[in-house]
Amino acid sequence: MIVIGGGLAGLAAGVALADSGWRVRLFEQRPFLGGRATSYVLPDGEHVDNCQHVTFGCCTNLEDFYRRVGCADKIKFFDRLLLLDPQGRIGQFQAGFLPAPFHILGSFASFSPLSLWDKLSIGRAMLDILRYQGKPPDVQEVAGISMLEWLRRRGQTQGAINRFWRVVLVSALSEELERIDARYGVDVFWKTVLSNRTGYRMGVPSIPLAELYDGCKTEIERRGGEVLLRSSVRGLKMENGQLAGVRFDEAREESADAYIFALPHTALAELLPESVKQSDPGLANLDKIKVSPITGVHFWFDRTVMDEPFLTLLDTTTQWIFNKTLLYEEPSSDLDPVAAGLPRRPLSTSSPAPSNAPPQPVGAHQYLQLVISASYDLLQKSRQEIIDLCLAEVRQALPKARQAELLKATVIKEAAATFSPEPGVDRWRPKQETSIPGLFLAGDWTQTGWPATMEGAVRSGYLAAEALLRAHGTPRTFLQLDLAPDGFIQMWLGKQGSEGTR
Ligand SMILES: Cc1cc2nc3c(=O)[nH]c(=O)nc-3n(C[C@H](O)[C@H](O)[C@H](O)COP(=O)(O)OP(=O)(O)OC[C@H]3O[C@@H](n4cnc5c(N)ncnc54)[C@H](O)[C@@H]3O)c2cc1C
Repeated sequence: MIVIGGGLAGLAAGVALADSGWRVRLFEQRPFLGGRATSYVLPDGEHVDNCQHVTFGCCTNLEDFYRRVGCADKIKFFDRLLLLDPQGRIGQFQAGFLPAPFHILGSFASFSPLSLWDKLSIGRAMLDILRYQGKPPDVQEVAGISMLEWLRRRGQTQGAINRFWRVVLVSALSEELERIDARYGVDVFWKTVLSNRTGYRMGVPSIPLAELYDGCKTEIERRGGEVLLRSSVRGLKMENGQLAGVRFDEAREESADAYIFALPHTALAELLPESVKQSDPGLANLDKIKVSPITGVHFWFDRTVMDEPFLTLLDTTTQWIFNKTLLYEEPSSDLDPVAAGLPRRPLSTSSPAPSNAPPQPVGAHQYLQLVISASYDLLQKSRQEIIDLCLAEVRQALPKARQAELLKATVIKEAAATFSPEPGVDRWRPKQETSIPGLFLAGDWTQTGWPATMEGAVRSGYLAAEALLRAHGTPRTFLQLDLAPDGFIQMWLGKQGSEGTR
């Protein structure tokens, strides 16, 4: 069988099918794997991720995939999320001793960037999500309502919207609140913080992204398959309405008994002949799925300017700062003091270090990566404008950066980073099975129930592999169960006879 596209969707499908005894040939147009979640070497020799990627405790399929390909130990999980506003006020989210859904209550109550009224209004909306187990009736409409509308219906304060809902959801869904289907917005809170204690834990790779996928090639080749890089599919060969092969440059053709197209929906729409699009309603509406941008900014400073592994900024263009130098370090108690049971270092928000501060050790350069999701406003800005804007924000947030020299900087704009989870988008997302025999789809944009995430991409790959095996009369399940509800939620759902879902 043939898989086209070496992003997470194609890799997950390929590895699952290889595991089922299929000889998989995977074709990827670029010289490396990983698609939109990858890394490469800049001309000056620096390894960079196209953008920082994070996972969460609730991403059970991504975790399963990492285990299958032998890189699960390269993901470091953190229990504490730290937020900082321009006034230097710090808030954090961290599970306390109470069971779900009250485990975050302690850190939420002391979250200083929010007023009491903000917190009370957030609490009311959370109760509504809880009452309906993540599925309030007004998010079930096919045409969808926006998250902003959903929040307004629940009387959320401006502070709660700007400093809580927007902060979490723009990062999680890479879209503005007015363009997010409330179904996705509500689901984020149900899966990460309300239904269990560990869904919110954030996992960050400790190696460049592309290196996570080394094991995929091994898995596919172990079963007689191959991974072919720099192999761009240029077209489909159709015979009597059937898919008879795929075309490459120089009149090369390849055929197989089944095909999984694991491309971005925009690339698939260009590749598919009009006759194929019209023969399947799921393929006819790909152009209705819009895209949203994410911008990554990479800074190298001449000294250590940040002690925490990552930080969320409030009220700024920059949303996240990741301390790549620290994250790439070998495991140490510094990285996860919670796990190590150590007291936390306070974040330094005091004035800049005095000029007689001890000199930094030679070579103590620090590499930071900044993330701006739904970065529509940056698309038209020049590289230098973006660097100036973000550098000023970093220097405001991290006093030690004010005296540090910025050695170099890179900006990576991904204009089509994710599909936009706008209200009603699910109508246009096709299933993995198509009406054309032997043609299956994978990609974060297919019907997975999830937004555009690595978890969504892996789910789509597993679902495509399951559909293919079903069609060949050898069904198998790859999709993992969602994180089980725990604490009071488990007791409550248990009473109602609920079972784990996929
Ligand atoms: C900047 C950025 C930040 C993100 N941050 C996060 C995050 O923190 N957490 C998270 O969970 N998700 C994040 N995402 C989303 C996540 O990266 C994607 O949802 C996921 O990687 C999509 O995987 P995919 O396999 O569906 O598609 P892709 O990764 O796009 O894979 C498609 C593959 O097909 C290949 N291809 C295209 N055309 C052809 C052709 N004609 N022939 C052969 N090959 C072809 C492409 O080169 C690509 O490798 C982010 C995305 C971006 C861009």
